[in-house]
Amino acid sequence: MTDLEAQLRAVSLRVTRPRLAVLAALRDHPHVDTDTVIALVRADVPTVSHQAVYDVLRALTDSGLVRRIQPAGATARYETRVGDNHHHVVCRSCGTIADVDCAVGPAPCLTASDDHGFVVDEAEVVYWGVCPDCLTSTPE
Ligand SMILES: [Zn+2]
Ligand SMILES: [Zn+2]
Ligand SMILES: [Zn+2]
Repeated sequence: MTDLEAQLRAVSLRVTRPRLAVLAALRDHPHVDTDTVIALVRADVPTVSHQAVYDVLRALTDSGLVRRIQPAGATARYETRVGDNHHHVVCRSCGTIADVDCAVGPAPCLTASDDHGFVVDEAEVVYWGVCPDCLTSTPE
């Protein structure tokens, strides 16, 4: 059994070729959008339909194996790095996304200055800026 199969079994999802292909695509290409996932999966399983990929993404996201992020104004992106409260930095110019680790240990950003009585378990932080590629390639 591969580790991807083990991941599916751990959340009681049946092991199917499209599910394995989507997980493998996201593991190798974090933060891709749905269209890119479809293209990557089709390289592996050519017969898979758009709808099948949508369904797999939903099942994997619901199960917690995949995290869906959607920066304002961008299409939804998916990644397999879950459960560590990491954050993202997004390039305003080209849309490139990179991971930003939260501090190790109890995530400091989970301690809201005022939690309004809520039990907080996740902080979604998006840093916006311009990536190094865009900084060097923009003729001013
Ligand atoms: Zn950029
Ligand atoms: Zn990420
Ligand atoms: Zn944080």
